Amino acid sequence: MTSLLEIFDPKAPPRAIGIDLGTTNSLVAYVKNERPTAIQDCDGRALLPSVVHYGAAGEVVVGENAARRAAESPRETIVSVKRFMGRGADDPETARLGPYAFSIPKAGEPNVVRFDVRGKAITPVEVSAEILRALKRLAEDELRSVGGAVITVPAYFDDAQRQATKDAGRLAGLEVLRLINEPTAAALAYGLEKKQNGKFAVYDLGGGTFDITILVLDNGVFQVRSTGGDSALGGDDMDRALAEEIFAKTGRDPKTASPGEVRVVLDVARRVKHGLTGAQEVEVENPFGKEPKSVVITRARFDELVEPLLARTGVACRRALKDAEIKPGELDGVILVGGSTRVPAVRSYVAKLFGKEPLGDIDPDQVVALGAAVQANLLAGHGDVEDVLLLDVIALSLGIEVGGGIVDRILPRNTTTPAAARSTYTTQEDNQTGFEIHVVQGERELAADCRSLAKFTLRGIPPMPAGLARLELTFRVDADGLLGVHAVEETTGIEQTVSVKPSYGLDDETVEQMLLDAIDHGEEDLAARRLAEARLEAHRIVTSTRKSVVADADLLLAGERESIEAAVAKLEEVAKGDDARRVQLHIEDLDAATKDFAGRRMNRAIAQAIEGQKLDTVEQTVEHAKGIEAAHAHAPLPPPPASR
Ligand code: ADP
Ligand code: MG
Repeated sequence: MTSLLEIFDPKAPPRAIGIDLGTTNSLVAYVKNERPTAIQDCDGRALLPSVVHYGAAGEVVVGENAARRAAESPRETIVSVKRFMGRGADDPETARLGPYAFSIPKAGEPNVVRFDVRGKAITPVEVSAEILRALKRLAEDELRSVGGAVITVPAYFDDAQRQATKDAGRLAGLEVLRLINEPTAAALAYGLEKKQNGKFAVYDLGGGTFDITILVLDNGVFQVRSTGGDSALGGDDMDRALAEEIFAKTGRDPKTASPGEVRVVLDVARRVKHGLTGAQEVEVENPFGKEPKSVVITRARFDELVEPLLARTGVACRRALKDAEIKPGELDGVILVGGSTRVPAVRSYVAKLFGKEPLGDIDPDQVVALGAAVQANLLAGHGDVEDVLLLDVIALSLGIEVGGGIVDRILPRNTTTPAAARSTYTTQEDNQTGFEIHVVQGERELAADCRSLAKFTLRGIPPMPAGLARLELTFRVDADGLLGVHAVEETTGIEQTVSVKPSYGLDDETVEQMLLDAIDHGEEDLAARRLAEARLEAHRIVTSTRKSVVADADLLLAGERESIEAAVAKLEEVAKGDDARRVQLHIEDLDAATKDFAGRRMNRAIAQAIEGQKLDTVEQTVEHAKGIEAAHAHAPLPPPPASR
């Protein structure tokens, strides 16, 4: 939290920030006193769940509060938006990625996925921009003003996905200094660039994705040698395996459980998982409230459950090593990234797999953002370290479609970037006066099986017999991994340069329009949004206060109930008006009125925890009590689980 006593130097240049825009969680960091540091919110949390909720009153909620609404309004709450970045509206995969409604683009609109949320079409770029805006605000609270930003992307992200990420940054009002690959950022956080040479594996197990990257450091220069992974493997799978175990132990058939019950069990499972990171066994109350009263899950059983998941990561790791032509024994270090690498079974599996203790002493949740902050700081010209030359690779081959629908690769995968390559083509038919150039990305032989990035036509070539015209194509990939194509017909000198705006991306005009809209409606949007948010907040706090006054009536002192009720009544009254500031003031009043009471409730919750109460009830009580105490800190209470 920013201390009011901190003195800002008005002449100090704005700080550059590093952002890890994750599938499950996102965070922002900057270099503070020469150390990369994650920025925490007012509750001391650095991780912002990558969840965006669009409310009925037009309010947009990001993070923990949005995540709490996912269950009750799944279509209005977008989770894992990263999976939708750079996808086309007609992508058959999208429907499988969540409970969302999609809106079909009108004629002439760019071919991008659009969520249909309360009748409004919202692109993944806009959703990601909300997350980035929330992070930017967090950074501004700490730094006052923010310079440029480095945003990380998975090493395998293709051109469309990178472009979409950059657009989101722009839309959020950030100057995107550079996109860097997540594993490269992790290596930077460990300062590995200071060694001269070495070979490193970056093992990243997050919430829903697994990525393995082999980095080679050659005379102080990084190259991403190979990438691999599984886009449907992560901590969520561990939660599911544990949930099945809980169903089995409570004698319930998951097939007969309601979606609400499944969600509760998954929630319990995740808490058990986190508990098992530190403890050998965890006992939880039967979520169905029947016999047996509780179930115990041991670390040993959990290890068994995750074993098949780990084996899948092993397959991907071996393949990546093979692609990089490196034997496990040749590695100089293994870096752990992602929240799921906290699981002890993961650590020991990785150690065994690579025959080496992994580096894990930087918080695996934060390591990517910290590395991005280091890079941002360098790009902003701070720090006495010489600029690190970062070389990344092209994750998927880039080429064009030639006769017969076959792909001709111009820049093969794993080429280090920035990179350029040239290739020459000729006409297929007599008197052909144009070339249709279809840029594709992927490893498949047929263009139809690859990702279509862009199509353009070079015209005006005089009629010639087939095979006489000479078209020279230059592919250039910049440091962000973005592609530009230059085409020239050599006999006539006709040329064209396109910065490839992918078929699955937003065109410049659309992004421009979004920016203009944001500026046009900026003021009113903000005021309306503040009011809607304040009202929502007031409603939640009033509800939770009422509940706890009943639940813990015995903790109320004489006269306390009356003063709390008076504060509740006043807050409800001002929430009907349209002055967001007044609502906020009365939220704070209510907070003050309940402060001591909340403290007593918290103490009781903690006392119960010490007495060895069941894990889940304790966490809930503690959270409940905190909810009141931190009312002004935007921490509304979670809805009570349906089955209890
Ligand atoms: P992403 O990169 O996908 O955004 P993260 O790196 O933030 O994801 O990882 C999130 C995952 O890490 C979640 O599945 C979460 O349950 C898991 N996780 C976080 N802390 C722990 C812990 N202490 N023990 C086990 N798993 C954890
Ligand atoms: Mg991550």
